[in-house]
Amino acid sequence: MSDTLFSKIVRREIPADIIYEDNLALAFRDINPQAPVHILVIPKDPIPTLADTESHNHALLGHLLLTVKRVAEQEGLENGYRVVINTGQDGGQTVYHLHLHILGGRQMQWPPG
Ligand code: AMP
Repeated sequence: MSDTLFSKIVRREIPADIIYEDNLALAFRDINPQAPVHILVIPKDPIPTLADTESHNHALLGHLLLTVKRVAEQEGLENGYRVVINTGQDGGQTVYHLHLHILGGRQMQWPPG
């Protein structure tokens, strides 16, 4: 597996505001928040994009979604939130280590830009 910026956060080689961790996943605050609450949930083992996942990743993908739910509850987002997975160039992805954005704390708009 290639090394990534987020793998360095997993290994504590660069600082981050980590708010949740288990054996498979890590959650930390986005360095450039787009909402009052903006958290990234990542798998500890890097997969570049959602498009690179395969059927054997199904349990991990379910775990990441359940981690989103858990972290959102932990953050008190009882009014709701948005989950975003930017995928590839057209998806606006900039860090090629799969991550789920949790955005909350304000009313989201639709459609996104
Ligand atoms: P994406 O554009 O979907 O690939 O999202 C990458 C996200 O990572 C952006 O929202 C960045 O603000 C965020 N980001 C980049 N570097 C860091 C970092 N060192 N710590 C926390 N978030 C970061």
